[in-house]
Amino acid sequence: MTRAARESADSVSVALLSWYDRHARRLPWRAPPGETPDPYRVWLSEIMLQQTTVVTVAPYFQNFIERWPRVESLAAAPLEEVLTAWAGLGYYARARNLHACARKVAGELGGRFPDDEAGLRALPGIGPYTAAAVAAIAFGRKATPLDGNIERVVARLFDVETPLPRAKPELRRLAERLTPERRAGDHAQAMMDLGATVCLPRGPKCLLCPLQAACAGTAAGRAEALPRRAPKAARPTRHAVAFWVLDEAGAVLLRRRPPKGLLGGMMELPSTEWREAPWSEGEAVVQAPLAAEWRALPGRVRHTFTHFHFEIEVWAGRADGGGSVSEAGETARWVRLDDLGGEALPSVMRKIVRHALAQAGG
Ligand code: SF4
Repeated sequence: MTRAARESADSVSVALLSWYDRHARRLPWRAPPGETPDPYRVWLSEIMLQQTTVVTVAPYFQNFIERWPRVESLAAAPLEEVLTAWAGLGYYARARNLHACARKVAGELGGRFPDDEAGLRALPGIGPYTAAAVAAIAFGRKATPLDGNIERVVARLFDVETPLPRAKPELRRLAERLTPERRAGDHAQAMMDLGATVCLPRGPKCLLCPLQAACAGTAAGRAEALPRRAPKAARPTRHAVAFWVLDEAGAVLLRRRPPKGLLGGMMELPSTEWREAPWSEGEAVVQAPLAAEWRALPGRVRHTFTHFHFEIEVWAGRADGGGSVSEAGETARWVRLDDLGGEALPSVMRKIVRHALAQAGG
């Protein structure tokens, strides 16, 4: 890096840190100024914040910290309890990896998180972004986490016109150039805060921005249009029929999904496979969990995952002595409607339950 580039990066970092000292967001997982952050809290929050907003994460974080205040207590909890506490937060592989990671840290590593990026990346569920964030925030390492918010700030600051994802290596190089030797954790959090509160995707508040004088995107008059993105492929739609079955006592049949894959280990209503072609009645009935008289409920439930839209038709039936759990499969069990709130039901399944209750009643 040339001397001029170094000096310019230093002045950006100084302006950013001084802004952060005055405007840092107060977040439940952040250590108060002057206190050393607890790596467990930093790690837990960073895993929860992957693909998820601060507002959504805050109550989940509080609940986890109250129930499992240390990595050892989280490690000792049954996976099923952790999945249930995670229900609604999405991207459920994170919860399974969280638990596996806690077990590894509490067991093999004697309760201490590794204090550098390489050591952190060797743990379950910790990718390059989370390793850099934890290394910088919890341990003060010079590391540069780079997520969508920070990429946006950097693309604008340096007026990078190359579209994403091709721009990623360039944005990384530029972001690393900005990272200071000291206070790397505060710098990372300042970049996160700037992206979340000032350098917004639409309508960046450049007049309030501590980096305005250095911002090449603003000088070129195109900051808001950055970063540019290559057009996305259209999301396909998958279809399924879900079965809402009540027994004589009014309990509903649920089953656990396989441990690996989408929504792995979470509970669900029994359903057909999820596939791109819609299901005919004859095809769907073969995949019903037990023999019953099925009634298709009006309407459809729609949900969007990262890579596809999901459209579900719901069939209702009763198992009045005509069906059994063994017929429904080993992972199925009956759950009283009052107890559904305590089940590890992901958001899409909660939507289906609401739809079934509204259309078929209990
Ligand atoms: Fe973002 Fe505007 Fe600040 Fe540039 S000046 S970093 S575009 S908020």
